Amino acid sequence: MHGDNAVRPFLIGSTWTTGEGQPFESINPATGQRNALIGSASKADVDRAVRTAKAAQASPEWRQMLPHKRAAILHRIADLIEAHAEELADAQMRQNGKLRHECVAQAAGGAAAYRYFASICETMPSEVAPSRGDHLAMVMYEPYGVVAAITPWNSPLTLESQKVAAALAAGNAVVLKPSEFTPTISLSVAALALEAGLPPGILNVVTGLGLETGSALVAHPDVRLISFTGGTATGKAIAREAAGRMAAVALELGGKSPHIVFADADLDKALQGVLHGVFSSSGQSCIAGTRLFVERGIYDDFVGRLADATKALRVGPPDEPASQVAPLSSFVHRDKVESMVGMAREDGATVLAGGCRPDDARLSNGAYFLPTILGNVANSARICQQEVFGPVLCVMPFDDEDDLVAQANDTLFGLAAGVWTRDFPKAWRVARAVEAGTVWINTYKTLSVSVPFGGFKESGTGREKGFHGIRTYQEAKTVMVGL
Ligand code: NDP
Repeated sequence: MHGDNAVRPFLIGSTWTTGEGQPFESINPATGQRNALIGSASKADVDRAVRTAKAAQASPEWRQMLPHKRAAILHRIADLIEAHAEELADAQMRQNGKLRHECVAQAAGGAAAYRYFASICETMPSEVAPSRGDHLAMVMYEPYGVVAAITPWNSPLTLESQKVAAALAAGNAVVLKPSEFTPTISLSVAALALEAGLPPGILNVVTGLGLETGSALVAHPDVRLISFTGGTATGKAIAREAAGRMAAVALELGGKSPHIVFADADLDKALQGVLHGVFSSSGQSCIAGTRLFVERGIYDDFVGRLADATKALRVGPPDEPASQVAPLSSFVHRDKVESMVGMAREDGATVLAGGCRPDDARLSNGAYFLPTILGNVANSARICQQEVFGPVLCVMPFDDEDDLVAQANDTLFGLAAGVWTRDFPKAWRVARAVEAGTVWINTYKTLSVSVPFGGFKESGTGREKGFHGIRTYQEAKTVMVGL
């Protein structure tokens, strides 16, 4: 990290600049201490970054680079991320408070994304379509040009890699605006990308605030695709702006995912799956299973055991190996989570575990909040309908499959869902009926870069990862040749 008063610069082309905007602070949520001062990109800085990206993308060096050569650069970026995994993980931990071992795993996930899209880059075929006459009909896949990538704070090591790797593999240039709460991961990775031989200007990073730097990037006329991960309200605002000039959008937004336990499930495994599904990353995960539906016959027993297990989770500093739940990503966010739990109480919810900050002097300087279970809530309650993005689980009984599916789908969101049962046909029926981009059966939060990820309904549009992930960053072009 940079010294206290040195402003960390951002990257346009091959130039590191502190920008024209007002520098902002990065704060460690586990301690309240300042990590660094970060440069802020003004509208003019953003304009320079986009114009630099546009020129670099159009240059023969990148546009005509053979796919296996582009893939080789992406592999070298992956190598360098792996070589610097520990320091990248530490930097993420200091900025969003995530458990260190989760950050280390995410650094590995970031490298894996570069390798996966490198492989696609050099193996991806174009298509020859059936001819309907005396001609050859081909389908080619072209880059958009300049892609704006805008990311949240919860998992920049993986989220930024999966966007940037796919966009570069597809032949685009990228201008990335990271969250103000996790500004430096992308700066470090961009430096590694230059070291790996990525031509300057193909990956630019503009740090700054969403309403200034982010909105200037979204509004820029030369940005042809906006790939955004973040909250649904921000995603809608971006989609409205993009519609004005028909720029494409890929939106990975919020969730309020149902997690379902039938009476015939392996209840020990289900209990662990529910705990991990909602409290890992302190609940700051778009796919957290935050609405738990338990079949009525086992409800009291299962929820009682779950509450005991939740109270036994060790809340502590992210760099202590014994910690199971770390602080929230910022003090502002902790206060928001706290007020949403207060709102649920006003609406009649019963606190079955947690519900407050830890009573531990050692943690008093950090943005901690205890893992919380709320009972006596209806699915229509505000706490069951609004995304908390914190360690808060709502528990509800259900009586039969139809009632269950109706409740699971009664939400604006549709990102993920989980089902625990030993009856496979039942699991299959529920998995097909639930409106969600990802459904887990007898597991939860199992992720892979090889499968598409994205949301139904207000959880977003477009897919990242998997083979679909590269198509998100390309436009199909038909080429007909008369014979
Ligand atoms: P936000 O929507 O507040 O911010 C996301 C990014 O957008 C940040 O970089 C932010 O900058 C920027 N931003 C904010 N306003 C604008 C604007 N008007 N124009 C352009 N950019 C803007 O989300 P959070 O960072 O709070 O992240 C949490 C949200 O992300 C949750 O809702 C969560 O569900 C969602 N998410 C979704 C995932 C998915 O794959 N579906 C994965 C992870 C998270 P700044 O930080 O400066 O405000």
